[in-house]
Amino acid sequence: MDSIKNRTLLKVIVLGDSGVGKTSLMNQYVYKRFNRQYKATIGADFVTKELHIGEKFATLQIWDTAGQERFHSLGSAFYRGADCCVLSYDVNTLRTFESLNNWHEEFLKQANPIEPETFPFVLIGNKIDVDGGNSRVVAEKRAREWCVSKGNIPYYETSAKENTNVDDAFLGIADRALANERQQDNIYFRDMSESVSEMIEQRNGGCAC
Ligand code: GDP
Ligand code: MG
Repeated sequence: MDSIKNRTLLKVIVLGDSGVGKTSLMNQYVYKRFNRQYKATIGADFVTKELHIGEKFATLQIWDTAGQERFHSLGSAFYRGADCCVLSYDVNTLRTFESLNNWHEEFLKQANPIEPETFPFVLIGNKIDVDGGNSRVVAEKRAREWCVSKGNIPYYETSAKENTNVDDAFLGIADRALANERQQDNIYFRDMSESVSEMIEQRNGGCAC
């Protein structure tokens, strides 16, 4: 029991426009697989990965948007208690980069963290493999400037398809989340199961009363 209690649970949420590769990044990181087909995310709301960082054991709980990535469409249970927010875009699609301001703002509004200026974000620019980089429209420099403007957000460029930098990015994410950690305890368990049943109610179109 003690060992469970002392394990840190880190809640990470992944935001970004539909199609940028959020689900693919998570699948590549957790299951080491890539699926070429486009499938709106349905089913499990989060995946978990056990990590051993330094002296600590942590469970990274990574929440997917379940295909609902429109602003204001993700319920408060999705944002609640996040330890790190991953913002993601597709380096080949300008619109997805331009949406980052909105996602950043939406997170701060919905999650309402105690210290918004220091809340840990990470930015991922995905799909760097496409056309050998020739169809890229957002330069690394531009992305890094955006990160600086938001308070020095760490930046990773990845390919979920070719498994480039995916582990590194999630390790960076875990690091950032750990800095914002909260101990997993009974209250948190209760909090989490409430969140999950809320999500199910929302999905089923309301409460059962
Ligand atoms: P999500 O809507 O953000 O969850 O995006 P998905 O993970 O469903 O990916 C959308 C599409 O982009 C799918 O067809 C994926 O196979 C493809 N995709 C995702 N990541 C990459 C990548 O790194 N490179 C390439 N070439 N395609 C990718
Ligand atoms: Mg998805």
